[in-house]
Amino acid sequence: MVSITVEHLSKSFGDIQALDDVSLEIAAGEIFFLLGPSGCGKTTLIRTLAGFYKPDAGRVLVDGEDVTAVPPHKRQTAMMFQSYALWPHFSVAKNIAFGLEELKLPNAEIEERVAEMLEMVRLRGLGGRSINALSGGQQQRVALARALAVRPRCLFLDEPLSNLDAKLRLEMREEIRTLCREYGLTAVYVTHDQKEALSVADRMAILEGGCLAQVGTPPEVYRAPHSPLVAEFIGETNFIGGIVTRIEDRVAEIDTDLGHFEGIIADPAWEPKVSDLVVIAIRPESLTLRDAPTDGVNAIDGHIERSVYLGEIAQYDLRASDGSSIRLSELNPSTVRDPGKAWQHAQAQREDVIVLKPPPGAVQTRTS
Ligand code: ATP
Repeated sequence: MVSITVEHLSKSFGDIQALDDVSLEIAAGEIFFLLGPSGCGKTTLIRTLAGFYKPDAGRVLVDGEDVTAVPPHKRQTAMMFQSYALWPHFSVAKNIAFGLEELKLPNAEIEERVAEMLEMVRLRGLGGRSINALSGGQQQRVALARALAVRPRCLFLDEPLSNLDAKLRLEMREEIRTLCREYGLTAVYVTHDQKEALSVADRMAILEGGCLAQVGTPPEVYRAPHSPLVAEFIGETNFIGGIVTRIEDRVAEIDTDLGHFEGIIADPAWEPKVSDLVVIAIRPESLTLRDAPTDGVNAIDGHIERSVYLGEIAQYDLRASDGSSIRLSELNPSTVRDPGKAWQHAQAQREDVIVLKPPPGAVQTRTS
């Protein structure tokens, strides 16, 4: 198992700064995800790690060894793309053998490894098939087998499942996780799918404009986002603007148009002061609906404007007393409350109220 160290990587395309001084440590055997809005630099970063792009500045180290100038095929790493990049006119076995032939391994060993890979990705007996005669999920497995056949030290996956339907994605993400663990691979994985990232990642980085916005485990990033961008990007969030009235031990008291809130200052690098404008973020599932008025702290009163039953949850849009819209969800609902004018009362626990620095030009109250 090998670690990957990223030191001050920068990369521009003309006037566009795709990566801006990115530093990162990926532990040996870790499954590390890169997420962020379109154009934030995910593909540029993974391609630079894999050696397909040369950075303008900075270094990439694999297990302490500087590989920045080493071409991709000499890094003992493998990359799997969204498009599979399989050769349609070759058989399944020939596709899997491709990298092994490049390595000039003896034929007997190539055959043995191809058979092992077919077994591993559950395609035994399909080695002679043409790629065109496979389903999307099977083609994806061939791409995975081809990547792993060369016994890479690291696996780079750029949106590997985006061409698959929802059920296959679920299946394949489990398989990828299991295989990475079994083979002791260090994996870097780019996705747009938050659920994929939350369920598979050991840790994840959220990028914004070529910089790292936050790095952490899925619960760290989901439960304690450091910025509105991260809160909005991972999951759904209600944002409420307000002014700090008191701070003690990283707990801030906030006055808003909806009332008084108390929440956690999650970003350790940020030191807000009394009278600062802030944004508080509350996840829909953190708000509990009550019929009776609450004690007033971290509470939002309003009426239900829209309710949707989704089986495992019921989702509500509450029109709050200041006119803003607040999203709530109730787990395992036995009934669904109907929209109407009756006054409802929602409340969150202090640890579920996250106090954030507002982005420039932020509005006072809104839902994402
Ligand atoms: P997406 O989620 O849409 O795939 P991304 O986060 O992977 O986006 P990148 O593809 O890394 O983002 O692109 C980062 C920035 O660099 C974008 O502004 C993009 O337009 C620009 N860029 C990327 N590759 C090139 C290129 N070959 N030539 C010019 N600009 C590029």
